[in-house]
Amino acid sequence: MQGDKFVRERERLINRLIREGILKDPKVIKAMLKVPREEFVPEKYKQHAYIDSPLPTLNGQTISAPHMVAMMCELLDLDVGHKVLEVGTGSGYHAAVCAEIVAPSDVDSKLWGHVYSIERVPRLAVFARNNLERTGYSDKVTVIVGDGTLGYSPAAPYDRILVTAAAPNIPKPLIEQLALNGRIVIPVGGTYYQELIVGVKISDSEIKTYSAGGCVFVPLIGRYGWRF
Ligand code: SAH
Repeated sequence: MQGDKFVRERERLINRLIREGILKDPKVIKAMLKVPREEFVPEKYKQHAYIDSPLPTLNGQTISAPHMVAMMCELLDLDVGHKVLEVGTGSGYHAAVCAEIVAPSDVDSKLWGHVYSIERVPRLAVFARNNLERTGYSDKVTVIVGDGTLGYSPAAPYDRILVTAAAPNIPKPLIEQLALNGRIVIPVGGTYYQELIVGVKISDSEIKTYSAGGCVFVPLIGRYGWRF
């Protein structure tokens, strides 16, 4: 059956990411084994859902490669109950993986956290909402259309902020909307190549950062991002 084939391919990919030392946190492993990536890619790429590569979504945008989703979730150090802001919903896949960690179905829903995810392209927000609905994540992820470089103040502060598009700098509103001791993971650099920056908020206005290595993302476009 087609479904079994995807389950087997998913297990094979996750096992490889574990062997390569990219996946370590049992919570991230469990979440990535559960979320069906094939449901978050356009129909014509379904058969390629478990190749460890970015794939096109709509409007020239992409769904990140599985190893990048794994790395970012590991660096975020997510836990049950966390309130997460994602900037760049895209397909909704990464938001679903985060939701599976902060609001697992086998834990009392009173302890669940929530994922707020912002997307600037309305068509992609619709695509993501449909994918999240079909896979059962719509009560754990709220998709908002807007400029995510401004954050999303109605639900702030956030325990974790995840930016899945490349920024010239860390947008100030995101630092403001991060909770004390909260963590942000964001690609910072040029439009072709970036460093994956991890920041921990150490005071009301300061974050301590380090680079977790090089990466390549589509540009973050907005008031505190790139202005094309
Ligand atoms: N996390 C996604 C992949 C995101 S690709 C997934 O799991 O599929 C990056 C996305 O960021 C694109 O969809 C792009 O439209 C969006 N984006 C770019 N600038 C943005 C901004 N200022 N606010 C919100 N979304 C933005």
